[in-house]
Amino acid sequence: QAKAAGRNTVSFFDPAMQARVNARAALEVDLRRALGNGEFVLHYQPLMCVNGTMAGAEALVRWSHPQRGMVPPADFIPVAEESNLILPLGRWVMREACQRLAAWAGDARTAGLEMAVNVSASQFHRPDFVEHVLETLAQTGARADRLRLELTESLLLKDVGGTVEKMQRLRAAGVSFALDDFGTGYSSLSYLHRLPLDQLKIDRSFIWGAAKEDSGAAIVRIIVSLGKALNMSVLAEGVETQAQLDFVIAEGCQYYQGYLFSKPLPEPELLALIANL
Ligand code: C2E
Ligand code: MG
Ligand code: MG
Ligand code: MG
Repeated sequence: QAKAAGRNTVSFFDPAMQARVNARAALEVDLRRALGNGEFVLHYQPLMCVNGTMAGAEALVRWSHPQRGMVPPADFIPVAEESNLILPLGRWVMREACQRLAAWAGDARTAGLEMAVNVSASQFHRPDFVEHVLETLAQTGARADRLRLELTESLLLKDVGGTVEKMQRLRAAGVSFALDDFGTGYSSLSYLHRLPLDQLKIDRSFIWGAAKEDSGAAIVRIIVSLGKALNMSVLAEGVETQAQLDFVIAEGCQYYQGYLFSKPLPEPELLALIANL
């Protein structure tokens, strides 16, 4: 009897799929524990002007896992998003980034830097998102006009009217906005001009393609002219070689980030790098 039931059960489930479901559930439990345990850290990647000065840094979250070591965001952000753990995680990231930004104001070498923070869709679309950001700025003493929020195309498309309204409220306080991974999403040119964006970040796939293929180069060119027409600055992501940097400068990008200048670094290493510039 039991054996037969067992056999029936097995026939309904794909063991590989079951293993994935179990792994995902275990990851969610582990993430929840990690949040309580303070296991997340921010690394910072320099955002460079093409003239060689540093304009700011992008805060990128990592999970400092007791067994697994440094876990990259691609391995846990998707699960955090599905499970709503992205809300407490996103709030932690915002607070930590604003605290560092406020501390940077006290040193002439870092006082002018901007801090870019990635915001996920479910975080942005929460009704209290604007209040939470303004509250975090006030509590940490960070300057709003040094904070830049990175949004993605799919996030912006969800409810353009409501999105513009939220962006305008934050903008009134001085916060600026970048469109992350531009070119990989579903942007429609018909609404791009309605969004109060300050910067387009060209996805690194186009930068890597640009050196090899004409189509990548054409896309970089189009995004640069779009930025000019819409009065937004343009940043090239994922610049790894001098040839790529030469190319994006020739095409008129004003900013870049990538391993050529620096990988994302723990804050002490970022500050050491700045001190040696
Ligand atoms: P992103 O916002 O587009 O961040 C840039 C990613 O490109 C980072 O990966 C960075 O390390 C990587 N990168 C920068 N320059 C180069 C380069 O020259 N070569 C290569 N191969 N990679 C480069 P990372 O840190 O693994 O983050 C991946 C993504 O995870 C981010 O993409 C962002 O979408 C998400 N993410 C990271 N931190 C947060 C966060 O605090 N909140 C949210 N919601 N998402 C985050
Ligand atoms: Mg980003
Ligand atoms: Mg990006
Ligand atoms: Mg990207």
